[in-house]
Amino acid sequence: MLSGQDFVISKGMIMASKGRFPRMVDDGNLEKGTVNAEFTSSSNHLRLSPGAAAILSFCDGHRCVEEVAACLSLDSGLPCATAAVEAVVGDFVRLGVVQVDERAKEVVSLGPVRHDCTGCGCSCESQLVGPLDDPFMAEVVAVHQAVAAEVESVRGVQPVVQGRTRQGEVLRFLHFPNKQCLFLNAERLCAIHAICGAEAKPEACRRFPFVAVEVEGAIRVGVRPTCYTAHRSYRDGSEADLSELASTAILRPVLRDRDPEDLDEGRYHEARILQWLQDERVGLVELLYRSAGCSARLPGRTQLPQGFCHTFLGLLQKMVDRLVPWVTSLAHTLHGQHLQRLHQALAEVSVEACQNAPGQPTWDAFGRHTIASAIFLRETSRFPSMPIGAMVFLFGHFVATWYAATRPGLSEDAAFDAYGTALAAWNRMMTQGPCFTALFPETEDFGLLTRLLESGDL
Ligand code: SF4
Repeated sequence: MLSGQDFVISKGMIMASKGRFPRMVDDGNLEKGTVNAEFTSSSNHLRLSPGAAAILSFCDGHRCVEEVAACLSLDSGLPCATAAVEAVVGDFVRLGVVQVDERAKEVVSLGPVRHDCTGCGCSCESQLVGPLDDPFMAEVVAVHQAVAAEVESVRGVQPVVQGRTRQGEVLRFLHFPNKQCLFLNAERLCAIHAICGAEAKPEACRRFPFVAVEVEGAIRVGVRPTCYTAHRSYRDGSEADLSELASTAILRPVLRDRDPEDLDEGRYHEARILQWLQDERVGLVELLYRSAGCSARLPGRTQLPQGFCHTFLGLLQKMVDRLVPWVTSLAHTLHGQHLQRLHQALAEVSVEACQNAPGQPTWDAFGRHTIASAIFLRETSRFPSMPIGAMVFLFGHFVATWYAATRPGLSEDAAFDAYGTALAAWNRMMTQGPCFTALFPETEDFGLLTRLLESGDL
């Protein structure tokens, strides 16, 4: 895995990707009793334990083995090991109770996927773009020459730099001298696009901020939560064609470098938090409590404990100090200017604002959508655990709310812009650069916040 990697595109691989989907044999029938269950088919009659019956009931041909395990986890309220489900499914196959279909994965999204690019150029700053796709690498010399003939700043500058994975694989990325892509021109537009046409750009650039992520049973598509104009597109953008989006995949390290037990636990938390996010009765403050491991409450909690706010603001303000050199080094970029505004605002947040910032329904709706997308698209896999990732994105919603609510005299539209850009700036800070460790330099800091939420002392 590359450190600081932002996105990795591999064209065409996802459509070839297959999953294993267990299903009961065609004439099988499961009848659940109070103690045991009965399975019958033309060639079999079996008495099953409740656990085995629960597994069989989820073998419907639509869920892959990992999803069956996640469903069992949700049912029982405890993480369920995929390996154990795999073993039971294997027994069922040998007994002729279950068949496993190998087929292409479905494309799924959280509702319509909307985006219209405004050409702000922020995605062309301060991040890695790559690994570069083969069609671009085949043309890179010609593209570079064509642009260099018209744009002086590109002349004599290498268009591509190399990186190496821990496994020793060499990957190529666009060159970002001075933290901006060398092809970003003075009008903040892509010089490749302007001179050679949109199709000459690397695939990563043509697709951003769309993302397609291969997970266990499906291909998930959506918009990355780091785009500065995603809030406007969410409100009134054009709907994208899902199958077209899925033809280009962003293959993240998505939890793959973790232990099987961590994977099972991560999927369990992911399914639970997505389920809470779908429940309108669970507000975002209540969701923070639940993500921190506090017991669920309905009607939900609506205020954060004072001790939690004090401690969190203390951590934020220490983070602001630690990040001064980093934010200053980006100040000449538009992305850096967004960060700088947020950075200054964080230094001034009060406990009162933290507890009582008056949000707006549109901010809450977009915040909920962004947090759900971040979890759904496995942006959380960058953090030490799934619940910590979810909490970091939730903090972003609160931070953006304080930021927008404390800007006086803004129209409704301008306030939504302030909220949306602050949220994207937070998400970029936390998913790139040194910010997460600047906020939580000690693992214990996170544990302390969790305990302060548990204490519930308002
Ligand atoms: S190649 Fe063009 S679109 Fe891609 S990062 Fe550079 S300037 Fe932006």
